[in-house]
Amino acid sequence: MIKDRVIAARDILGIHGLDALLFTDLYNIRYLSGFSGTDAALLLTATDAWFLTDSRYTTQAVTETGLPVRTHQLKSVGIANLLQELALKRVGFESDDISFAFYTELHSAAPDVEWLPVNETNRLRSRKDADELSCIAQAAEFNASAIEAILPVIVSGARERDIALALEIALRQQGGEEKGFDFIVASGERGALPHGVASERKIAVGELLTLDFGTRFRGYYSDETVTFAVGQVSDHLRRLHAIVLEAHDRAIAAVEPGRPLREIDAVARNYIAAQGYGDFFGHGLGHGVGLQVHEWPRLSPRAQGVAEVGMVFTVEPGIYLPDVAGVRIEDIVAVTDEGCRVLTRVPKSFTVLPN
Ligand code: ZN
Ligand code: ZN
Repeated sequence: MIKDRVIAARDILGIHGLDALLFTDLYNIRYLSGFSGTDAALLLTATDAWFLTDSRYTTQAVTETGLPVRTHQLKSVGIANLLQELALKRVGFESDDISFAFYTELHSAAPDVEWLPVNETNRLRSRKDADELSCIAQAAEFNASAIEAILPVIVSGARERDIALALEIALRQQGGEEKGFDFIVASGERGALPHGVASERKIAVGELLTLDFGTRFRGYYSDETVTFAVGQVSDHLRRLHAIVLEAHDRAIAAVEPGRPLREIDAVARNYIAAQGYGDFFGHGLGHGVGLQVHEWPRLSPRAQGVAEVGMVFTVEPGIYLPDVAGVRIEDIVAVTDEGCRVLTRVPKSFTVLPN
């Protein structure tokens, strides 16, 4: 168990007057216990904790968590038996994680338990400790070395999907765990698709190319976007890049503890709007990154909350002109006492790749 994180999670018990918290979300379980397998439940009381899994993971769970491990054949029954033994009555569960079918099963296995939906651990995860920050920074280092390794492959005539594959291999060779998500490799007019995963399209001279990619290190993600020019591009495309870069720089400069997340989003959004492209930046400015590639918090015009020291999130403004081109520039920042630190390392200044 990871002590400081468990202490914070136990505060939730007091807030809701609970006897115990049942965790089923594997990311939250990894966060609290260190367990990296794919079947688990974790029961936390004010003084104790139990780990539940199936027999495939018994040894791994003992090693990784240091907790008493109970093995079950049917998870709902394993949980119900434990609750009954400990005479626990008011139990918080992660309603954002479990299916209605599993909830129904739990309910009938433990009919005397009062189940209360509690989903606050995702928010605890938004403020990273030093260990988590170093994992994300390491995953970001892999990004930088991988891009450097594949630059010779990014030439006119190359297919988007070949670039995506080269990037994936390079990330694995650096030490990345596995592909973080389906990489976006979008050239020419496909750049206007914010989620244009790599296609058969061949890149041509004079086009912009957007690469959105990342990997994992010890469970923690990197996520980064760079937009290159392949050969010389028109003044119009160059201007689009300059606007997005300025919006990105201004938003990063605005990050400081206590600043409403909505305001950070607005700094980039208002700048892009003032340049005449407000209708072409449709998504939120960023998202938290950690054990999940998209996690709490969100940065958007509707975002709640403020930047807090230790929070890690992306800053990724873009402009997407349908049937013409697109630009997105994305970095990960960690909020510090003074402002923020940029964890991603690939240079974002306007770069023309030789052709
Ligand atoms: Zn991304
Ligand atoms: Zn992102």
